Amino acid sequence: MTAPNGRTGQPVLPALLGLGQRGADRRRRTLPASVLKLPTIGIDIGGTKVIAGVVDGEGKIVEQLREETPHKSKSPQVVEDVIVDLVLRLADRHDVHAVGVGAAGWVDADRSRVLFAPHLNWRNEPLRQALTDRLRFPVVVENDANAAAWAEWRFGAGRGEDLLAMITLGTGIGGAVVRHGYVDRGRYGLAGEFGHMQVVPGGHRCPCGNRGCWEQYSSGNALVREARELAAAESPVAQPLLTRAGGDVSAITGPLVTEAAREGDPMAVELLHDIGTWLGVGLANLAAALDPGRFVIGGGVSAAGDLLLAPAQDAFRRTLTGRGFRPEARIELAALGNEAGLIGAADLARTVARRFRTVKRSRAER
Ligand SMILES: [Zn+2]
Repeated sequence: MTAPNGRTGQPVLPALLGLGQRGADRRRRTLPASVLKLPTIGIDIGGTKVIAGVVDGEGKIVEQLREETPHKSKSPQVVEDVIVDLVLRLADRHDVHAVGVGAAGWVDADRSRVLFAPHLNWRNEPLRQALTDRLRFPVVVENDANAAAWAEWRFGAGRGEDLLAMITLGTGIGGAVVRHGYVDRGRYGLAGEFGHMQVVPGGHRCPCGNRGCWEQYSSGNALVREARELAAAESPVAQPLLTRAGGDVSAITGPLVTEAAREGDPMAVELLHDIGTWLGVGLANLAAALDPGRFVIGGGVSAAGDLLLAPAQDAFRRTLTGRGFRPEARIELAALGNEAGLIGAADLARTVARRFRTVKRSRAER
């Protein structure tokens, strides 16, 4: 019998968790139906919020909790404390079997260390081991964009696609590839950093240290920068936007521009058109490299819907190499919204849930 509370029993042997990435995903595909139904916990650690949820085998969130992300000056332990607290609160009320953590940052190829996180004080941080020791649950750590892409492939807009590329338009651009049913992480775990492809030589400075990165032209930050620049220049075309923001340039946000565009403000429509056009150009470059069957576009900016997607599709068709002589990838909006990272992390955790359950059962029988 499965113990009602996953925290009972001995710590799980680290060896149980040492699955290679591709091995783990292959195993995932051959998991028996009983394991696919196990509830697991997904955690999404973003720049401002840590969201934790219990997710069932259908990808539905059963219960969700959230806390503020500790400031990046805090020690790694403080972030772990937040995660542990959220997991234990959920595990008290649900029979969960594993924990998946999706983190904004670089996760190594073994999915155990966070090599670097822009919003947190994590530098080569052995997160999986630290959480496994404290939680006594099997833990999987994954890059947040990879987790979101996995969720869209399993339950959302990417279902059934053999080669899926996901683009997350948030403050920057996150990216991931799901190829033949596994997340393609690259040799070192760092694949999918599409946002830092150079699209404009000598262009805008990027926090990554380079200039002209794609995310400087097609992201929430790019949208806000352009809108504020126009407003600060006291351009009459930006007056409606500025009025909406109460006359305060710094109060212009991405959602505010999107709302204005939806209500027909021509400048806001134009700003989103520019972001969408750059999106399409970048997607055409990605198609040259990856030749995916489908692009799924998620993240906060994708809430603009067709105001973003229509210009992206136009630019994609105009820029695609070999256009007119090749099949074209579909470009679709993500289906799972802000919860994709959490749902994907929880689902990836099922790869280790079965082993945990077997261990628990054999202990119970002893
Ligand atoms: Zn960059």
